Amino acid sequence: MSTVASGMVDLSVVVPLYNETASLPTLYEHLREVLQRLGLTYEIVFVDDGSTDGSSALLLDLAAKDPTVTLVAFRRNFGKAAALSSGFRHARGQTIVTMDADLQDDPKEIPRFLDKLRDGCDLVTGWKHPRRDPFSKTFPSRVINTLVNWVAGTSLHDMNCGFKAYRREVVDALHLYGGRHRYIPLLATQIGFNVGEIAIRHHPRKFGRSKYRFSQRWPALFDLVSLLFLTRFNRKPLHLLGGLGVSAFGIGLGLCVYLSWIRLFQGEFIGHRPLLLLGVILMILGVQLFSFGLLAEMLTSFHHVDSDEHVRAIVRGGRRVEETP
Ligand code: UDP
Ligand code: MG
Repeated sequence: MSTVASGMVDLSVVVPLYNETASLPTLYEHLREVLQRLGLTYEIVFVDDGSTDGSSALLLDLAAKDPTVTLVAFRRNFGKAAALSSGFRHARGQTIVTMDADLQDDPKEIPRFLDKLRDGCDLVTGWKHPRRDPFSKTFPSRVINTLVNWVAGTSLHDMNCGFKAYRREVVDALHLYGGRHRYIPLLATQIGFNVGEIAIRHHPRKFGRSKYRFSQRWPALFDLVSLLFLTRFNRKPLHLLGGLGVSAFGIGLGLCVYLSWIRLFQGEFIGHRPLLLLGVILMILGVQLFSFGLLAEMLTSFHHVDSDEHVRAIVRGGRRVEETP
């Protein structure tokens, strides 16, 4: 199967789904109604993430009747990041909108997303406001959003909203896997794209159940740590690990020098002092962290690939030869 998109259209709507058969017919009708009124060429790319409830059969039927419908069907469930990533690869739109399949996102909001893109944003993310979800979902989400804004200096209300609109080059620059889809606005900001937000209508889930239980929401914190590490220190891991290592070693050394001074010049017995243990542990830890940093630098140099995803324009001889609109 070719992964290279051909025959561009103005707009692709990418819908990742997992066991959403009850919602799909209504979603398709609502989407078609909105998209036909836009006056743009469009396609709907459904990505079936290994459903076992007949969603694929239903979508195959739709794809046979409607040439604007594309179905990408996974062999088994790989998760939403994989579904979005695959949807992006097969989408042929200059602009790409993603939305959930469970009717919680309202297709009528699509024109507002497009307007905001026209205002100059590269990525527009939805803010479900007011959010029609139970506390077990809103609480972890609130904690994580606050944390991200605090750590990354962003000011977004709903990082993980499934409803988003992108310029083509944003999706080309994103590498989604694992749980990274939860932090797309952060990833895009780190690359240098202009991220905007709009408040959108949100509906309670009508059919089926959420695919993420309360306990499944917290690993998002690990994804955040990994993402921050990879975006800030991906190409210079020694800056973090070396810094931590030198600090730990320095503190440990300071403690040991202090205790040695006491032992040598004040004649105090120091063998029973917890401070001695702490000093020695910190020095060993420091050496280990520094060594991890060096190993990580080696890995980085093996895997480093030069890429141009952060380049907006190239000017040669006074003329732009490559440009991102
Ligand atoms: N989804 C998916 N793969 C998964 C889990 C979910 O494609 O492994 C889809 C799901 O069908 C829906 C969207 O991702 O279209 C959001 O999932 P859900 O509504 O369960 O999440 P919530 O709104 O509860 O956060
Ligand atoms: Mg949902």
